[in-house]
Amino acid sequence: MPRIEILDENMINMIAAGEVIERPASVVKELLENSIDAGASKITVTIEDGGRKLIAVTDNACGIDAADLAVAFKPHATSKIKTSGDLADIATMGFRGEALASIASVSRLRIVSRTGDAIQANALDIDCGAEQPVKPCAGDYGTTIEIRNLFYKLPARRKFLRTANTEMSHIIEHFTRIALAHRNIDMTLIHNGRQIHRLLSNQSLKDRIAQLLSRNIAEDLLETESSEKDMHIFALLGTPAVARGSSKFQYVFLNRRFIRDRFIGHAVKEAYRGLIEHNKYPVVFLFLELAPNAYDVNVHPTKIEVRFQNANLVHSQVLAVLREKLLNTNLDTFARLPVSPVDLSPDDRMSRDEQARRQRITQAMADFFKTQKPEQAAQQRFAFTPGRKSSSTVALPKPPEHLIPQPATQADDDPPLHGDFLQLHNSYIVTQTDEGFVIIDQHALHERIIYEDLCRKTAAGRLASQRLLIPETLEIDDAQADAIGAHSELISRLGIELVPFGPKTIAIQAFPAILAGVSPADFVGDMLDRLTDKSLNLDAERLLHELLDMTACKAAIKAGQSLTNTEMAQLLADKQTIERASHCPHGRPTTIKFTLTELEKQFKRT
Ligand code: ADP
Ligand code: MG
Repeated sequence: MPRIEILDENMINMIAAGEVIERPASVVKELLENSIDAGASKITVTIEDGGRKLIAVTDNACGIDAADLAVAFKPHATSKIKTSGDLADIATMGFRGEALASIASVSRLRIVSRTGDAIQANALDIDCGAEQPVKPCAGDYGTTIEIRNLFYKLPARRKFLRTANTEMSHIIEHFTRIALAHRNIDMTLIHNGRQIHRLLSNQSLKDRIAQLLSRNIAEDLLETESSEKDMHIFALLGTPAVARGSSKFQYVFLNRRFIRDRFIGHAVKEAYRGLIEHNKYPVVFLFLELAPNAYDVNVHPTKIEVRFQNANLVHSQVLAVLREKLLNTNLDTFARLPVSPVDLSPDDRMSRDEQARRQRITQAMADFFKTQKPEQAAQQRFAFTPGRKSSSTVALPKPPEHLIPQPATQADDDPPLHGDFLQLHNSYIVTQTDEGFVIIDQHALHERIIYEDLCRKTAAGRLASQRLLIPETLEIDDAQADAIGAHSELISRLGIELVPFGPKTIAIQAFPAILAGVSPADFVGDMLDRLTDKSLNLDAERLLHELLDMTACKAAIKAGQSLTNTEMAQLLADKQTIERASHCPHGRPTTIKFTLTELEKQFKRT
């Protein structure tokens, strides 16, 4: 074995760079954070060739004087902490003192900096760790750092860099995270001479979201806020309509630092459960403020993960504030119909004229309704075909106990419904509201109503069951037999009674009353499939809900089933009394609402 030697400074830096500086975007992040810590109110980021050629960050912050310049690039050089006590109370973005040293060890770097009281700036050049002396030069107040040829002496790392576009998308993502959390700063991003973003200081959060991410999303956000147990939460929540195929649009900030946290991620998912489909991810912007000593940021070199002292508390508070907002908002899906080729392109690119036109329409409609009674207005503008009586009356599944209205939890802004109903294709119910009309998927809504009722009942005890006069038998395999043993408690909560009946057979003796009309053997067979499906990988709670979901689906009225006016009225009355009525338990919409404004537009009456 060769002798043990202490690595030289530059080697230490290069090794540290391996952790902190993965790609150009990491450099941008570190430099932006330094400018913020130094008190910048204006920052410009200039990139060439996806950062391969140049990354330059200019700020108007406090600057670094000549003496400090000489040490700023040493490993573990920081002005942000001094004692171990400081480490427990970090209020700055940086503190590890390794970014500048790391970056300078793997690139050609030039820094020009001038402090507020200096008559001139100072410059320093470092080529892969080899420092030139600090020299006075001309320059503005603040700091400019230019990084050229990142990783040029590390061909293996440089080879790992992707196309300029890919690297640029990473840079934009880091720029976005920082810009969302620091709206007091004027920020510009330029790539190959082209301005990608110019963000004015003190923009509203929604404006920044519209500019950085999507106008569509910015227009569909619910705002909520809470302050409890030393934690402040401010959240903008995307409605189910803007849910995405990935978790990319989940921005969580802790004291303005972008973080990823599985507890918070889980709380968000839970809050939207049943409001979006299982393969979709909600859009959320969460800003948490917590005393720095209530968590540790020193667990990951890039500080993207933190360790909370009380992660359960954070989880429950986030879940509570999100859930409360989502349950108290009418989340019925708005119909958005294209009216002209302009509208066929994504809303994000909606022209100013089009925006102004929409605003005028909205204003005109609002004025119109202010001067007239809603009923009057609606009749005048929109003659509604009265509900017809259904010829073949199909009773709702019995017993109808699940249709008994429960204590009102109606969303504050649920529009009142008018009396008449129309059933389309024996599947959809159309009815008039003050604002326009709604189309309801009868199966989806009924499924939600039953599901909510089942949840309440199983929380309190077990479902009412009905003894079968002649028990039904079912053949099962070993895995299914095991599942019956393992989930006996769950099965009995559903009101199902199974007894062994021969070596590979069970008898179903009792069955949920609500499922009258459903074949017990089929249902139990399906249930056993879920209970033995390892890929579902659900905890007991989720498993119960999965089965309640299945039960609700089988018990609900089907598409194609003709309904009487009374039955439709009952369904819609129940809609007002339950939570999450806007979506079925799988997260698909139950209701699409059309506003008069939308109709006006379609009929070109504006
Ligand atoms: P850290 O941010 O963890 O302290 P860095 O290596 O990123 O470590 O920076 C080292 C030091 O250089 C900082 O602590 C700060 O004092 C100084 N510094 C870096 N960037 C700037 C800047 N843009 N303006 C003023 N001072 C800066
Ligand atoms: Mg730093």
